Amino acid sequence: MFNIDQLIRDNIKALKPYSSAREEYTGKEALFLDANENPFNNPYNRYPDPLQLELKYKLANLKGIIHNQLFLGNGSDEAIDLLFRAFCEPGKDNVIIPDPTYGMYRVCADINNTEVRNVSLQEDFQIDLALIKKRINKNTKLIFLCSPNNPTSNSFDRQKMIELINHFQTGLVVIDEAYIDFSMQKSLVEQISEFKNLVILQTMSKAWGLAGIRLGMAIADKKIISVLNKIKYPYNVNSLSQQKALEAISSASDKIYWVQQILSQRKMMEEELYKLRFVKHIYPSDANFLLIKVKNPLALYNYLVKQKIIVRDRSNVHLCEGCLRFTVGSKKENKRLIEVLFEYDEIFEID
Ligand SMILES: *Cc1c(COP(=O)(O)O)cnc(C)c1O
Repeated sequence: MFNIDQLIRDNIKALKPYSSAREEYTGKEALFLDANENPFNNPYNRYPDPLQLELKYKLANLKGIIHNQLFLGNGSDEAIDLLFRAFCEPGKDNVIIPDPTYGMYRVCADINNTEVRNVSLQEDFQIDLALIKKRINKNTKLIFLCSPNNPTSNSFDRQKMIELINHFQTGLVVIDEAYIDFSMQKSLVEQISEFKNLVILQTMSKAWGLAGIRLGMAIADKKIISVLNKIKYPYNVNSLSQQKALEAISSASDKIYWVQQILSQRKMMEEELYKLRFVKHIYPSDANFLLIKVKNPLALYNYLVKQKIIVRDRSNVHLCEGCLRFTVGSKKENKRLIEVLFEYDEIFEID
């Protein structure tokens, strides 16, 4: 049976967290002479709500969860880092990461001096459940699954993910749903209460169009959330970001419209890309980007740079040899990309 208390590092369990002025008195109407703030320059003179409660109530409502099942951080990257700091003893514990996937899991592991056990995805980009299970040992604390996966753009099989969550009772399964809004698959958030060892990461950086405000989320059992809250910086989400996120939620129809646009543009891009002779394969995408296998990826990459179009070179990535990754942009941006690609197609045939 899963037991969170056995998982938390001893020093974190013993930690007495910093108590900020704003946590000790939470009323709104008062003379605030407790935090050594400047009385001028309202409202920016005030420290933000350390637990972002107003925003959490709204987001929790949107997601059908309770506010204490939600952690907010300075991007999902903060949540990833805190998971290492809370649960992985440096120099001793390990985490399992599929390969290829999002690069931040390894960077955070390296910063926290935690062994990474890479498990290759299968040729079809699905997780290899048997191999993952084999790599788990008593020091394995976290297993990361990014679904839809970056850079392969596919979602992992839901049943397999659930089987892994049920199987791995000695650590946490972290499912990164950064691209879930673009996916045909349902989020696992609606099942969050069934699993004590599941952490779901989401972000406002993609579908919400708010990468600049740095707002990421972890959704999990309230015991896990309280560990993250205990070790985070007291004012980790600044007031401008909280305010902007609240505004975005109050016009959530924008997000729905943007996602529709991006999905229809993704379909258009796929159709156009198939007409190009140098395109060898377009992987089916469940995200806001396309992974495409091309002849001579570096030549194409450099040609695009010359035309001031920047895409992501993934040609050296395991299982993505020969591939570039295109983010689906606006209609105008995509039209320009396609134009340049057709030009290149002509030139490539001359060579
Ligand atoms: C873009 C992305 C994120 C978002 O990270 P933020 O820190 O919230 O901007 C998270 N996970 C994956 C896999 C991503 O590609």
